[in-house]
Amino acid sequence: MTDWIAEEKKYYMQTRRQPIVIVRGLGAKVWDEHGKEYLDFTAGWAVNNIGHCHPAVVKAVQEQVATLTQTSNQFFTVPQLKLAKLLVESSGMGKVFFCNSGAEANEGAIKLARKYGKLHKSGAYEVIAADNSFHGRTLTTVAATGNVHYQEPFTPMPDGFKHVPFGDIEAIKLATTPKTVAVLLEPVQGEGGVNVPPPDYLRQVRQWCTERGLLLILDEVQTGMGRLGTLFGFQRYQADPDVITLAKGLGGGVPVGAFLAKDSCAVLVPGEHGSTFGGNPLVCAAALASTEWLIDHKIWENARKMGERLMRGLNDLYKSFPKEIKEVRGVGLLQGVETREDVAGAVITACNAEGLLLNPARPNVVRFMPPLTITEQDVDEALVRLSRACAKVFSVKA
Ligand SMILES: *Cc1c(COP(=O)(O)O)cnc(C)c1O
Repeated sequence: MTDWIAEEKKYYMQTRRQPIVIVRGLGAKVWDEHGKEYLDFTAGWAVNNIGHCHPAVVKAVQEQVATLTQTSNQFFTVPQLKLAKLLVESSGMGKVFFCNSGAEANEGAIKLARKYGKLHKSGAYEVIAADNSFHGRTLTTVAATGNVHYQEPFTPMPDGFKHVPFGDIEAIKLATTPKTVAVLLEPVQGEGGVNVPPPDYLRQVRQWCTERGLLLILDEVQTGMGRLGTLFGFQRYQADPDVITLAKGLGGGVPVGAFLAKDSCAVLVPGEHGSTFGGNPLVCAAALASTEWLIDHKIWENARKMGERLMRGLNDLYKSFPKEIKEVRGVGLLQGVETREDVAGAVITACNAEGLLLNPARPNVVRFMPPLTITEQDVDEALVRLSRACAKVFSVKA
């Protein structure tokens, strides 16, 4: 049998992986090369919102790949325009542009904001973003990301970003200058450790942006497509953004990103932005099938219900281990358990052994982001596996 982990060391530029070779997925489960089954509470990094290999997505991809895969944006294609209509109408935005990833979606949104600044705000170009945010790995989105750890190896950073504490409206007000053109935030911070702002925060930011003529850009790459218990995260917070960015859960598993803007700020004109693969018919057929299914089944309602169930279970876990667990937090099916020490890695390794996949958002935060189609039974089973894993890790420590 091939040793895939050795092959990886030899051939792949080193990132960081769990030593598991996943060969198959269905719904909320995946199987490794030895046939071991796991409950997947990473969901391809908050991507497989309607589960692995959902039949609606499989069918759409199979049909589309045999019909038309790629044309470039020099031409119209029907799957792209159907998806455009569905996203624009369900978000209340005006126009959409498709790309291939979350970073690229944010790059597009930042370019749009700069163009808007040139047209309407005397060349203002600065974007206020939050500490502990995550907006991507390209140079500009790393500069937007509020975490020096991701920036240091690659300085100098592109100019034009200011960072303020997340959840603090006064900090945004203080950071605003005549050079400011936009505020860029995640409705709930995902990679930063599942950080939930005060309930009023986004509404207050919206109000400030309106007063000062700033664009409110919400990075919904992780929170969009039902994860917070509403189709888009902003719908939970009455924050009516000017621009939103999407990726992760949009494509039902295939790589597709998008940014959407209100007509009042959809200022890009022909020649200013583009993408060779962006929104090609194959990925748009997948995204259309996934998004239609998700909307038809109001999957955010299940996300809300299962989120409450998961949170009850995590709070029970907290009661069992009050000395080891500091806090349980999250919204919908984006949740985190913060431990008092940096043991997220150890908890996750123990969970892997029990047949549960999770992600360490921080060294001290275990993140839960299962498919939104998850059942009560699978939530309960995941909690059983998690508490067995915690018992092992915490008893070794004690
Ligand atoms: C993952 C993520 C990104 C980056 O998306 P990629 O597809 O990895 O480029 C940007 N913003 C948020 C909030 C994310 O969670």
